[in-house]
Order: sequence, then structure tokens, then C-alpha cells
Amino acid sequence: MKALVYTGPETQAYRDVADPAPSASDALIKVAHTGICGSDMHAFLGHDERRPAPLILGHEVAGTVMSGPLQGKRVTVNPLVTCGTCEACRSGRDNLCPDRQIISMPPREGGFAEYLSMPEGNLVVVPDHISDAQAALAEPVACGWHAVRLAKRALMSDPAEAKALVIGGGAIGLGAALSLKAQGISQVRLIEPNAERAGFLKSSCGIEVLTPEQAETGGHYDLIVDGVGYAATRATATKLARPGGVISHIGLGSAEGGLDIRRMTLQEITFIGTYTYTAEDFRETARAMFDGRLGALDWTETRPLSDGLKAFTDLRQGAVAVPKILLTPDT
Ligand SMILES: [Zn+2]
Ligand SMILES: [Zn+2]
Repeated sequence: MKALVYTGPETQAYRDVADPAPSASDALIKVAHTGICGSDMHAFLGHDERRPAPLILGHEVAGTVMSGPLQGKRVTVNPLVTCGTCEACRSGRDNLCPDRQIISMPPREGGFAEYLSMPEGNLVVVPDHISDAQAALAEPVACGWHAVRLAKRALMSDPAEAKALVIGGGAIGLGAALSLKAQGISQVRLIEPNAERAGFLKSSCGIEVLTPEQAETGGHYDLIVDGVGYAATRATATKLARPGGVISHIGLGSAEGGLDIRRMTLQEITFIGTYTYTAEDFRETARAMFDGRLGALDWTETRPLSDGLKAFTDLRQGAVAVPKILLTPDT
């Protein structure tokens, strides 16, 4: 099959590789669309030692099942493979399974390819009215869904009255903003410094967008989701959280810095680290997408897999207004 293979920092090759060989419990998926994630970019730039070259990146996949009981069904893929038997898995926190694997990280290849092998339990069947491009958004949106669910639980006030702020207007931030609304928090603002993307989010997604400067003077928030995760965004989050407020942190931009621990202590601000989603969060997100509770899901641009390197380069240069680029295998 053809695949886009990460071959070293800032290089990827579109080339022939061996087809996946599914085990007995795996299904073979013919890939339709795979989203480019911030973590793929991180790996592409050579900044992720967990993803050494050569490797097929990509974990936001929708496609059609080619083998097994679900043969012929269109599916969206939960890329997180867990053991199902440990304490974390049994208590519904399977995203914290010590044996967790995610596709696009060894030993599992990713979805920038024509085919992918995946355990059947990780597949969610997609109804006819949802396109493959929309279905591929389940993974990034589920990250926001999970972060919002945990934040709501920590918020000791009525979520319906809460004012929320999301930092970052990529798919993670937008997914969090849409999840806030779907989970009953209607007052949602989002910070996005890139003017082109901010314009897109306002006009095409109906999101109230602030520049970082506007956010500084816009008062405090009950609930803040940091979808970026750099020291500067964490500093913004701790500054803008109200006393007793909650920060839900998704972004993996940088490991350290930014938190004002003194203010967090004196004002009892809760900080929650969040990682991906549980299998139940993923299914709930998919249901909300299918029911139309997460909007039109039309904020993507599709490009051919063979042109994937250029898509990474354009994203790197901030030259993309839409929050998500999807790659589709060439026909
Ligand atoms: Zn992702
Ligand atoms: Zn486990």
C-alpha cells in the first residue's frame, strides 16, 4: 500500500510499504480520511522521542471495514488501545491504562496510509448522514469532550451559569468550545491569536473569539480549557481563572512553566491535567456528533495523502485558516 512515512525531522516520504497484517481480533480498515494533529506536527519536527523514524503518523482516522463482523461498515476509529483488564481499565479510566498504545506510536503504525489494522472494540459505526470527513473529527473533539467533563465535575457551581474560556483555536480548542456548549455551558469565548483562523472561527463556526490582548481585560472565568499548553497559555489561564475556578489542561506544547502556584493556592484554583478520552467519552462524543449537538463539523479541508508533506509545511507556517486538515489516500 501507499503511505506517508515520517523519515526524519521535517521529512516525510510518500512511498510503498507492506500492507498491515491484522491479528485475529483486529479488523482491516480502508482509510478514507485522517486528520493532522498537533502531536503529528510535534513528531514531524523531530520533537517526540516516542515517535522515532521511520514511522507512519496519524491517529484521527475514519474509513470502511474490510474484514470481520463489521465488514462493509463505515467507522470512526478510537486510536487508543488499552488492556481492558487492569485497575484503570476496570474503573472506567482506560485512558490511564499502563499498557495503553496509540496508533502512530510504536509498535502501532498510524493512519496516513491506505489501510490500518485496528481492534474491533475501537471502532464506532458511523450513520449514513455523517461523512467520512466529519467522522474523522471524533478523535480531536473527544479530547475536548473529556476535558470539559472533568472540569464540570470539579466546578462547585452550576455549570449552566458558568463563563468559560478556551485557549487555542485549533481542532482541540474548537472541539472543547463545541463540547462546552453541548454539555450545557453556553457562555463560551475562545482566544486565537492568528487573525485568519480567528475570522474563520467567528464566521463559520459561530464562536466568540478574542485576541490575547482582549482576553487580558475581559474579566475572570469559571472554567478555562488550555488547548495549547505552553508556559504563556498556562500563565494566561492562571491569571484569568476566577477564585475557585477550574483549569482543564489538554495541550502538550511545553512541559514546564507558566503556572502561578501562589495565586492558585490563595484562590483555590483547580488545575486538571487531561489526557485523550476514555472509551466511553469517545462513544459519547461520536453520539453527540451524530445527533448534531456538536454543530456542522464542516471546519476541515481535505488534501491528497501524496501531498501530505506540503500540508505539514503549510500548517507549520500558520498558512491554514481551517482548524483541521484531513489527508485522503489518492485514488
Ligand atoms: Zn489528535
Ligand atoms: Zn488497562
